[in-house]
Amino acid sequence: MKLLVTGGAGYVGSVCAARLVEAGHEVVVVDDLSTGHADAVPDGCKFVEADIAEAAGDLLAEPFDGVLHFAAKSLVGESMQEPRKYWQGNVLTTLRLLDAMHEHGTPRLVFSSTAATYGEPEEVPITEDAPTRPTNTYGATKLAIDHAITSYATAHGLAATSLRYFNVAGAHGAFGERHAVETHLIPIVLQVALGQREQVQIFGDDWPTEDGTCVRDYIHVTDLADAHLLALQHAKAGEHRIYNLGNGTGFSVKQVIDTCREVTGHPIPAHVAPRRAGDPATLVASSRRAREELEWRPQRADLSVIVRDAWEFTRGRA
Ligand code: UDP
Repeated sequence: MKLLVTGGAGYVGSVCAARLVEAGHEVVVVDDLSTGHADAVPDGCKFVEADIAEAAGDLLAEPFDGVLHFAAKSLVGESMQEPRKYWQGNVLTTLRLLDAMHEHGTPRLVFSSTAATYGEPEEVPITEDAPTRPTNTYGATKLAIDHAITSYATAHGLAATSLRYFNVAGAHGAFGERHAVETHLIPIVLQVALGQREQVQIFGDDWPTEDGTCVRDYIHVTDLADAHLLALQHAKAGEHRIYNLGNGTGFSVKQVIDTCREVTGHPIPAHVAPRRAGDPATLVASSRRAREELEWRPQRADLSVIVRDAWEFTRGRA
Protein backbone atom coordinates (compact mmCIF):
# COMPACT_ATOMS: atom_id res chain seq x y z
CA MET A 1 0.00 0.00 0.00
CA LYS A 2 1.01 3.62 -0.42
CA LEU A 3 0.68 5.23 3.02
CA LEU A 4 0.96 8.69 4.49
CA VAL A 5 2.41 8.69 8.02
CA THR A 6 1.89 11.94 9.94
CA GLY A 7 4.30 12.42 12.82
CA GLY A 8 6.71 9.85 11.40
CA ALA A 9 9.68 11.73 12.87
CA GLY A 10 8.39 11.11 16.41
CA TYR A 11 8.70 8.10 18.70
CA VAL A 12 5.77 5.82 17.82
CA GLY A 13 5.43 7.26 14.29
CA SER A 14 9.05 6.51 13.37
CA VAL A 15 8.85 2.94 14.69
CA CYS A 16 5.63 2.36 12.79
CA ALA A 17 7.06 3.88 9.60
CA ALA A 18 10.06 1.54 9.95
CA ARG A 19 7.77 -1.50 10.35
CA LEU A 20 5.69 -0.44 7.33
CA VAL A 21 8.84 -0.13 5.18
CA GLU A 22 10.06 -3.53 6.46
CA ALA A 23 6.70 -5.00 5.41
CA GLY A 24 7.14 -3.63 1.87
CA HIS A 25 4.78 -0.62 1.94
CA GLU A 26 5.55 2.70 0.24
CA VAL A 27 5.70 5.34 2.98
CA VAL A 28 5.59 9.13 2.88
CA VAL A 29 6.25 10.81 6.23
CA VAL A 30 4.93 14.30 6.94
CA ASP A 31 6.11 16.00 10.12
CA ASP A 32 6.65 19.65 11.11
CA LEU A 33 9.56 18.65 13.39
CA SER A 34 8.03 20.59 16.29
CA THR A 35 8.87 17.66 18.55
CA GLY A 36 10.21 15.04 16.13
CA HIS A 37 13.68 14.63 14.63
CA ALA A 38 14.48 14.54 10.89
CA ASP A 39 17.09 11.81 11.48
CA ALA A 40 14.44 9.60 13.11
CA VAL A 41 12.59 9.22 9.79
CA PRO A 42 13.45 5.69 8.67
CA ASP A 43 15.46 5.04 5.50
CA GLY A 44 13.20 4.15 2.64
CA CYS A 45 10.54 6.75 3.51
CA LYS A 46 10.00 9.92 1.56
CA PHE A 47 10.07 12.82 4.03
CA VAL A 48 8.06 16.04 3.72
CA GLU A 49 8.69 18.68 6.39
CA ALA A 50 5.41 20.57 6.64
CA ASP A 51 2.53 21.61 8.84
CA ILE A 52 0.00 18.78 8.41
CA ALA A 53 -3.09 20.99 8.49
CA GLU A 54 -1.67 23.10 5.66
CA ALA A 55 -0.10 20.31 3.61
CA ALA A 56 -2.73 17.54 3.85
CA GLY A 57 -4.77 18.76 0.86
CA ASP A 58 -1.80 18.91 -1.52
CA LEU A 59 -0.22 15.69 -0.26
CA LEU A 60 -3.40 13.63 -0.61
CA ALA A 61 -4.12 14.96 -4.12
CA GLU A 62 -1.77 12.14 -5.13
CA PRO A 63 -3.66 8.89 -4.41
CA PHE A 64 -2.83 7.11 -1.13
CA ASP A 65 -4.28 3.84 0.20
CA GLY A 66 -4.33 5.16 3.72
CA VAL A 67 -3.15 7.54 6.42
CA LEU A 68 -1.60 6.65 9.78
CA HIS A 69 -2.05 9.72 11.95
CA PHE A 70 0.46 9.97 14.80
CA ALA A 71 1.22 13.70 14.81
CA ALA A 72 -0.10 15.23 18.02
CA LYS A 73 0.68 17.28 21.07
CA SER A 74 0.87 14.74 23.90
CA LEU A 75 2.02 16.25 27.20
CA VAL A 76 -0.73 15.93 29.80
CA GLY A 77 0.55 18.71 32.08
CA GLU A 78 1.05 21.13 29.21
CA SER A 79 -2.44 20.34 27.90
CA MET A 80 -3.93 21.68 31.15
CA GLN A 81 -1.90 24.90 30.98
CA GLU A 82 -2.11 25.58 27.24
CA PRO A 83 -5.41 24.04 26.06
CA ARG A 84 -5.41 26.05 22.84
CA LYS A 85 -2.28 24.23 21.68
CA TYR A 86 -4.15 20.92 22.09
CA TRP A 87 -7.56 21.89 20.68
CA GLN A 88 -5.94 23.60 17.72
CA GLY A 89 -2.96 21.28 17.28
CA ASN A 90 -4.81 18.01 17.76
CA VAL A 91 -8.48 18.56 16.90
CA LEU A 92 -8.31 21.23 14.19
CA THR A 93 -5.36 19.59 12.45
CA THR A 94 -7.16 16.26 12.36
CA LEU A 95 -10.35 17.85 11.01
CA ARG A 96 -8.31 19.35 8.18
CA LEU A 97 -6.77 15.95 7.55
CA LEU A 98 -10.19 14.24 7.54
CA ASP A 99 -11.51 16.82 5.08
CA ALA A 100 -8.53 16.30 2.77
CA MET A 101 -9.03 12.52 2.96
CA HIS A 102 -12.71 12.90 2.16
CA GLU A 103 -12.05 15.33 -0.70
CA HIS A 104 -9.52 13.00 -2.33
CA GLY A 105 -11.21 9.71 -1.44
CA THR A 106 -8.40 8.31 0.73
CA PRO A 107 -9.97 5.05 1.94
CA ARG A 108 -8.21 4.12 5.24
CA LEU A 109 -7.22 5.80 8.50
CA VAL A 110 -5.41 4.48 11.57
CA PHE A 111 -5.43 6.98 14.44
CA SER A 112 -3.28 7.11 17.59
CA SER A 113 -5.79 7.38 20.39
CA THR A 114 -5.01 6.88 24.07
CA ALA A 115 -6.01 5.31 27.36
CA ALA A 116 -6.37 8.93 28.55
CA THR A 117 -9.78 8.98 26.78
CA TYR A 118 -11.14 6.80 29.62
CA GLY A 119 -9.96 8.86 32.60
CA GLU A 120 -10.25 7.28 36.06
CA PRO A 121 -11.50 3.73 35.42
CA GLU A 122 -14.42 2.17 37.28
CA GLU A 123 -13.11 -1.30 36.52
CA VAL A 124 -9.80 -2.79 35.44
CA PRO A 125 -8.86 -4.22 33.03
CA ILE A 126 -10.37 -1.45 30.91
CA THR A 127 -12.42 -2.56 27.92
CA GLU A 128 -13.42 -0.43 24.92
CA ASP A 129 -16.96 -0.25 26.36
CA ALA A 130 -15.79 1.55 29.51
CA PRO A 131 -17.12 5.11 30.01
CA THR A 132 -14.96 7.80 28.41
CA ARG A 133 -14.46 10.60 30.92
CA PRO A 134 -11.02 12.08 30.29
CA THR A 135 -9.46 13.88 33.26
CA ASN A 136 -7.18 16.09 31.18
CA THR A 137 -7.30 18.21 28.03
CA TYR A 138 -5.00 15.89 26.12
CA GLY A 139 -7.40 12.95 26.59
CA ALA A 140 -10.40 15.18 25.80
CA THR A 141 -8.92 16.24 22.45
CA LYS A 142 -8.15 12.63 21.48
CA LEU A 143 -11.71 11.61 22.41
CA ALA A 144 -13.16 14.49 20.38
CA ILE A 145 -11.17 13.27 17.38
CA ASP A 146 -12.43 9.71 17.90
CA HIS A 147 -16.01 11.05 17.71
CA ALA A 148 -15.22 13.01 14.53
CA ILE A 149 -13.71 9.90 12.94
CA THR A 150 -16.85 7.88 13.74
CA SER A 151 -18.98 10.50 11.97
CA TYR A 152 -16.73 10.61 8.89
CA ALA A 153 -16.60 6.81 8.69
CA THR A 154 -20.37 6.48 8.92
CA ALA A 155 -21.18 9.31 6.53
CA HIS A 156 -18.39 8.99 4.00
CA GLY A 157 -17.40 5.32 4.04
CA LEU A 158 -13.96 5.77 5.60
CA ALA A 159 -12.39 2.53 6.92
CA ALA A 160 -11.10 3.78 10.25
CA THR A 161 -9.38 2.36 13.31
CA SER A 162 -8.46 4.12 16.55
CA LEU A 163 -5.83 2.41 18.66
CA ARG A 164 -5.90 3.39 22.32
CA TYR A 165 -2.36 3.06 23.60
CA PHE A 166 -1.59 2.31 27.24
CA ASN A 167 2.03 2.94 28.38
CA VAL A 168 4.24 2.64 25.31
CA ALA A 169 7.91 1.92 26.02
CA GLY A 170 10.98 0.17 24.63
CA ALA A 171 12.65 0.80 21.28
CA HIS A 172 12.79 -0.75 17.84
CA GLY A 173 16.53 -0.93 17.08
CA ALA A 174 17.67 2.59 16.24
CA PHE A 175 14.18 4.04 16.74
CA GLY A 176 13.22 5.04 20.26
CA GLU A 177 12.08 7.73 22.63
CA ARG A 178 13.87 11.12 22.35
CA HIS A 179 11.65 13.72 23.96
CA ALA A 180 13.09 17.17 24.67
CA VAL A 181 10.92 17.28 27.79
CA GLU A 182 10.88 13.79 29.25
CA THR A 183 8.02 12.99 31.60
CA HIS A 184 7.71 9.21 31.16
CA LEU A 185 8.85 6.83 33.84
CA ILE A 186 11.10 4.36 31.99
CA PRO A 187 13.19 6.95 30.07
CA ILE A 188 13.57 9.00 33.26
CA VAL A 189 14.78 5.97 35.24
CA LEU A 190 17.23 5.12 32.45
CA GLN A 191 18.58 8.68 32.53
CA VAL A 192 19.50 8.03 36.18
CA ALA A 193 21.29 4.83 35.15
CA LEU A 194 23.23 6.84 32.55
CA GLY A 195 24.24 9.46 35.13
CA GLN A 196 22.15 12.19 33.47
CA ARG A 197 19.93 12.53 36.55
CA GLU A 198 20.74 11.99 40.23
CA GLN A 199 17.64 10.05 41.21
CA VAL A 200 14.09 9.21 40.29
CA GLN A 201 11.05 10.56 42.07
CA ILE A 202 8.27 8.12 42.89
CA PHE A 203 5.04 10.10 42.61
CA GLY A 204 3.25 8.82 45.72
CA ASP A 205 3.51 5.55 47.63
CA ASP A 206 0.10 5.73 49.32
CA TRP A 207 -2.04 4.66 46.38
CA PRO A 208 -4.55 1.82 46.80
CA THR A 209 -2.26 -0.71 45.09
CA GLU A 210 -0.22 -3.65 46.39
CA ASP A 211 3.01 -1.71 47.06
CA GLY A 212 1.37 1.74 47.22
CA THR A 213 2.77 3.00 43.89
CA CYS A 214 0.80 3.48 40.66
CA VAL A 215 0.26 0.53 38.37
CA ARG A 216 0.48 0.82 34.58
CA ASP A 217 0.31 -1.51 31.57
CA TYR A 218 3.58 -1.20 29.60
CA ILE A 219 3.58 -2.22 25.97
CA HIS A 220 6.57 -2.64 23.65
CA VAL A 221 6.60 -0.09 20.84
CA THR A 222 7.29 -2.80 18.22
CA ASP A 223 4.21 -4.78 19.32
CA LEU A 224 2.24 -1.54 19.19
CA ALA A 225 3.47 -0.80 15.66
CA ASP A 226 2.47 -4.28 14.53
CA ALA A 227 -1.12 -3.61 15.61
CA HIS A 228 -1.19 -0.70 13.14
CA LEU A 229 -0.28 -2.99 10.26
CA LEU A 230 -3.05 -5.40 11.29
CA ALA A 231 -5.51 -2.52 11.62
CA LEU A 232 -4.81 -1.53 8.00
CA GLN A 233 -5.52 -5.06 6.82
CA HIS A 234 -8.71 -5.56 8.83
CA ALA A 235 -10.38 -2.15 8.35
CA LYS A 236 -13.77 -2.10 6.62
CA ALA A 237 -15.31 0.79 4.68
CA GLY A 238 -17.89 2.72 6.70
CA GLU A 239 -16.71 1.33 10.06
CA HIS A 240 -14.76 2.97 12.85
CA ARG A 241 -13.28 0.36 15.15
CA ILE A 242 -11.62 1.13 18.46
CA TYR A 243 -9.07 -1.13 20.15
CA ASN A 244 -7.14 -0.91 23.41
CA LEU A 245 -3.49 -1.87 23.17
CA GLY A 246 -1.75 -3.12 26.27
CA ASN A 247 -0.47 -6.40 27.65
CA GLY A 248 -3.18 -6.81 30.27
CA THR A 249 -0.61 -6.93 33.07
CA GLY A 250 0.13 -4.08 35.43
CA PHE A 251 3.50 -3.15 36.89
CA SER A 252 3.95 -0.71 39.77
CA VAL A 253 6.40 2.20 39.68
CA LYS A 254 8.57 0.32 42.19
CA GLN A 255 8.53 -2.82 40.03
CA VAL A 256 9.57 -0.77 36.99
CA ILE A 257 12.48 0.77 38.91
CA ASP A 258 13.54 -2.69 40.17
CA THR A 259 13.48 -4.07 36.62
CA CYS A 260 15.59 -1.12 35.45
CA ARG A 261 18.08 -1.88 38.24
CA GLU A 262 18.33 -5.51 37.11
CA VAL A 263 18.71 -4.65 33.42
CA THR A 264 21.23 -1.82 33.87
CA GLY A 265 23.13 -3.06 36.93
CA HIS A 266 22.88 0.49 38.32
CA PRO A 267 21.55 1.09 41.87
CA ILE A 268 19.17 3.86 40.61
CA PRO A 269 18.48 5.92 43.74
CA ALA A 270 14.77 6.69 44.18
CA HIS A 271 12.79 8.75 46.67
CA VAL A 272 9.12 9.20 47.32
CA ALA A 273 7.64 12.53 46.19
CA PRO A 274 4.05 13.85 46.35
CA ARG A 275 1.44 12.38 44.01
CA ARG A 276 1.29 13.87 40.51
CA ALA A 277 -2.01 15.62 39.72
CA GLY A 278 -4.32 13.68 37.45
CA ASP A 279 -2.67 10.25 37.88
CA PRO A 280 -5.13 7.35 38.26
CA ALA A 281 -3.94 4.61 40.65
CA THR A 282 -4.20 1.73 38.17
CA LEU A 283 -4.50 1.61 34.37
CA VAL A 284 -4.50 -1.82 32.80
CA ALA A 285 -5.93 -2.64 29.38
CA SER A 286 -8.14 -5.43 28.25
CA SER A 287 -6.85 -6.03 24.71
CA ARG A 288 -9.17 -8.95 24.11
CA ARG A 289 -10.87 -7.22 21.22
CA ALA A 290 -7.56 -6.53 19.42
CA ARG A 291 -6.48 -10.13 19.98
CA GLU A 292 -9.77 -11.52 18.70
CA GLU A 293 -10.58 -9.19 15.82
CA LEU A 294 -7.11 -8.13 14.63
CA GLU A 295 -5.42 -11.39 15.67
CA TRP A 296 -2.84 -9.22 17.40
CA ARG A 297 -0.27 -11.22 19.38
CA PRO A 298 2.21 -9.08 21.33
CA GLN A 299 5.62 -10.80 21.23
CA ARG A 300 7.51 -8.67 23.75
CA ALA A 301 5.22 -8.48 26.78
CA ASP A 302 8.00 -9.18 29.29
CA LEU A 303 8.85 -5.94 31.14
CA SER A 304 12.58 -6.80 31.20
CA VAL A 305 12.57 -7.09 27.37
CA ILE A 306 10.86 -3.70 27.09
CA VAL A 307 13.38 -2.11 29.47
CA ARG A 308 16.35 -3.89 27.82
CA ASP A 309 15.44 -2.53 24.37
CA ALA A 310 14.89 0.97 25.77
CA TRP A 311 18.25 0.73 27.58
CA GLU A 312 20.15 -0.39 24.47
CA PHE A 313 18.66 2.48 22.52
CA THR A 314 19.35 5.06 25.26
CA ARG A 315 22.90 3.85 25.81
CA GLY A 316 23.58 3.86 22.08
CA ARG A 317 22.66 7.54 21.84
CA ALA A 318 24.53 8.71 24.97
N1 UDP B 1 6.10 8.37 37.50
C1 UDP B 1 6.90 8.52 38.61
N2 UDP B 1 8.03 9.27 38.49
C2 UDP B 1 8.39 9.88 37.33
C3 UDP B 1 7.56 9.71 36.20
C4 UDP B 1 6.41 8.95 36.32
O1 UDP B 1 6.62 8.00 39.70
O2 UDP B 1 9.42 10.58 37.29
C5 UDP B 1 4.87 7.54 37.63
C6 UDP B 1 3.60 8.27 37.25
O3 UDP B 1 3.06 8.92 38.38
C7 UDP B 1 2.72 7.12 36.76
C8 UDP B 1 3.71 6.12 36.17
O4 UDP B 1 4.99 6.49 36.70
O5 UDP B 1 2.07 6.51 37.84
C9 UDP B 1 3.77 6.18 34.67
O6 UDP B 1 3.91 7.53 34.28
P1 UDP B 1 4.23 7.98 32.81
O7 UDP B 1 4.36 9.49 32.82
O8 UDP B 1 5.39 7.20 32.29
O9 UDP B 1 2.97 7.53 31.98
P2 UDP B 1 1.38 7.84 32.17
O10 UDP B 1 0.82 6.66 32.89
O11 UDP B 1 1.25 9.13 32.90
O12 UDP B 1 0.90 7.92 30.76
